[in-house]
Amino acid sequence: MTMERQPTSTVTRPTSTAEAVRELAGGGARPRAGGTDLAACLEVGAVAPGPLVDLLDVPELRGPHWAEDGSVRIGAMTAVAELGADPRLAGAYPGLAAAARALATPQIRGTATVGGNLLQRNRCSYLRNPAFDCFQTGGDSCPARSGDHLRGVVVDQGPCVAPHPSSLAVALLAYDATVRVRHGSGTDSGAVADRDLSELYDGTDPTRDHVLSPEDLLVAVSLPASVPGERAAHLRAAGRSRAEWPLVEAVVRLECAEGGTGPVVRAAVAVGGVARTPLRLPGVERSLVGSLPGRGPGAVVLEALEGLTELCSPLPATGYKVPLLQATVQDAVERALDSPDR
Ligand SMILES: Cc1cc2nc3c(=O)[nH]c(=O)nc-3n(C[C@H](O)[C@H](O)[C@H](O)COP(=O)(O)OP(=O)(O)OC[C@H]3O[C@@H](n4cnc5c(N)ncnc54)[C@H](O)[C@@H]3O)c2cc1C
Ligand code: SF4
Repeated sequence: MTMERQPTSTVTRPTSTAEAVRELAGGGARPRAGGTDLAACLEVGAVAPGPLVDLLDVPELRGPHWAEDGSVRIGAMTAVAELGADPRLAGAYPGLAAAARALATPQIRGTATVGGNLLQRNRCSYLRNPAFDCFQTGGDSCPARSGDHLRGVVVDQGPCVAPHPSSLAVALLAYDATVRVRHGSGTDSGAVADRDLSELYDGTDPTRDHVLSPEDLLVAVSLPASVPGERAAHLRAAGRSRAEWPLVEAVVRLECAEGGTGPVVRAAVAVGGVARTPLRLPGVERSLVGSLPGRGPGAVVLEALEGLTELCSPLPATGYKVPLLQATVQDAVERALDSPDR
């Protein structure tokens, strides 16, 4: 079955989260944030047409809200550009700010939102071509697996081989972020659930890119307080420097003793472009403990990077991503060790 292009029907504009959740209850409608990906998906039939709930007029969903303990809740409708431009956010979470500044174009970053970025559809050219059918459009096969999958996964988690597209998800995973979701049933304003960001994605499900249903409203992401003496770096390997999704992307975050000058006591390393979900690399993280800022990665770290080959299960055309992953993570680690502490 091939989906046909059809015009979208109604658009409603709620002014509160409770109203938005009520509009979404029942499952007939879906949220629209900046609309940068949704419009493209509707155009090619990658998303079925139907009523839209436009979130632009819901002030509760916007902006960072800081708690006294230094943690922050960022509304789902906060523009991607704000993550890089807000001095307090960029100072506390430099890896997130760098990922936000590097993605897409200034125009897209000004319109696109945090929630929409986390929930955008993947970039597979078969998904975005109405002439093809696949698991993600109600079909029962993956034409990319046997066809063109040059930009596909190198960690094969399940039947779909399109890497997760969200750069912010990679950075937020490195920062141990959680997400708040309201569901259209339950109380008047919807049942609320907080979960780890990683639980938004299921790499084994080939039918969708995230686990939320159209009835679910992503309200906010929360980040724990930043740690004094932390160092971070973000790096992307892409076919061109602007307006392109990365082939591989890495965010490295290092907590160092003695206010930032001492050895690494905790590391977080997250990568994107390699699997159906953003991934943490626990082996590389463990190997980094004890590393000294200002020095290159030691033998233990290089051995852990070498060991990434065991994590990889390349498709016929994605073997090039194994050394690219190793080199991107190594470069990001070197930059984080050399970066100024905060
Ligand atoms: C040239 C180009 C280069 C790009 N490069 C990158 C890149 O390198 N990295 C990257 O990450 N992205 C990249 N993008 C994608 C861009 O970042 C996304 O299009 C954008 O982030 C989507 O956000 P939006 O607010 O417009 O979402 P929308 O298009 O409005 O929505 C996307 C999806 O999320 C759902 N949704 C939105 N908000 C909510 C919510 N609060 N609750 C529940 N569901 C919701 C919508 O229903 C829809 O299904 C690029 C785009 C372009 C055009
Ligand atoms: S199942 Fe995934 S990889 Fe395969 S064609 Fe569809 S979107 Fe592309």
